[in-house]
Amino acid sequence: MSSDVNTTSAAGPEPLGPKDSQWLGEYSQVHMNVFGTPLRVMDHGQGARVWDVDGNEYLDFLGGIAVNSIGYAHPKWVKAVAEQAAKVAHVSNYFATEPQIELAARLVKLAGAPEGSHVYFGNSGAEGNEAALKLAKLYGRTLPGAAPAMGGKPARIIALTNGFHGRTLGALSATWKPAIRKPFGPLVPNIEFVRAGDPFALYEAFSETGVGHYGKGPVAAVIMELIQGEAGVKPLGADYVKKVREMCDINHALLIIDEVQTGIGRTGAWFAFQREDLSGGVTPDMVTFAKGVAGGFPMGGMIAFGEKLSALFTPGSHGSTFAGNPLGAAAALATLDVIEEDGLVANAEERGRQLRDGLMACGNPLYVSTRGRGLLDAVELAHPCAHAVMNWCLERGLIVNAVRADALRFAPPLIVSEKDIDEALAILKAVPGDLPDD
Ligand SMILES: *Cc1c(COP(=O)(O)O)cnc(C)c1O
Repeated sequence: MSSDVNTTSAAGPEPLGPKDSQWLGEYSQVHMNVFGTPLRVMDHGQGARVWDVDGNEYLDFLGGIAVNSIGYAHPKWVKAVAEQAAKVAHVSNYFATEPQIELAARLVKLAGAPEGSHVYFGNSGAEGNEAALKLAKLYGRTLPGAAPAMGGKPARIIALTNGFHGRTLGALSATWKPAIRKPFGPLVPNIEFVRAGDPFALYEAFSETGVGHYGKGPVAAVIMELIQGEAGVKPLGADYVKKVREMCDINHALLIIDEVQTGIGRTGAWFAFQREDLSGGVTPDMVTFAKGVAGGFPMGGMIAFGEKLSALFTPGSHGSTFAGNPLGAAAALATLDVIEEDGLVANAEERGRQLRDGLMACGNPLYVSTRGRGLLDAVELAHPCAHAVMNWCLERGLIVNAVRADALRFAPPLIVSEKDIDEALAILKAVPGDLPDD
């Protein structure tokens, strides 16, 4: 991944410095090699910028993969985390804390979830989805076709091709990419994939539900992202999402929307499903969240819409030692405060438009088309040279992500300014058209 980052060119790029080289050598001695060799060893950040151990500065248009929503070291976040750390950092779930109670209420409100909706906290996106899948399984048992006494079959869960829901065994079972899923099979049974964006494929999957010994079990839930982030920032399309909701309703199946990447203001709405142009105005039964929610603190979870669904989880159904950790909750509350007070949801919308328009107007023929909403965006490249482009930009002080060989992903902090976008565009405009393919 980074064998070619240590190159220089006449344009004055920043090479991999001596401290970076030394630390990266030590990194590979002691870390499981699941991420390849990291690009740089980072030391500290401020706002939308981050510095490596050699003192090189980078404008960060990946934002820790959509995590650093209010940038690095935001003073309100630092203060909130420091104060909470000095008060109480952890209590176990035999006890509760004010921040977690406040945060749960706040998230239900931001999601516009109905009265009686409840939150489950975990520590990552995968854990948010594990909770959603487990709740869907409990729901599936309540469906008539799943009743064993009537010759029923276990309920199924439907996921989409190119979807990504995490690396734990449950979430992985609903994650499409065969290269990362297949080596770990057999995984959770009764999870099926249908072609993303194809309503007939979903119709067929639903119609396989049979009675008695015929056909398969009923469908408990459909799980999907509204913009498939890891697949290259691909919106599913509002018309399709609306049809999915209709089919779920007809078949008494739940709709789980994975907003781990799209949530918490990133797409120019608090949640992507609140954007008519992404969801067609549908309401999910569950929403999962993580990445951006706590501004860099590991935190995730799930919101179950409505009293009845929420009540399927009872004491012992699920849990985690760190779930609802007060330090994470305080970090999340500070993050939400800053997003609200500084109008960052609207900023995401405006700056995202500036970025996409700027890419198309910059005159570099490498950029074919853009996609995304708010500050979750991608640009399609004329040839599959994304890794070379990423390295070229990195050496000139801009972090972008080679999400696919033929596309770059952008997920900068929601605090980016008009000037930051202009600065990134100036670098992106200068990317040579003849960089080597991946
Ligand atoms: C990142 C991501 C996950 C997994 O989150 P982790 O915190 O890495 O477990 C799940 N779903 C989507 C859509 C994601 O982008």
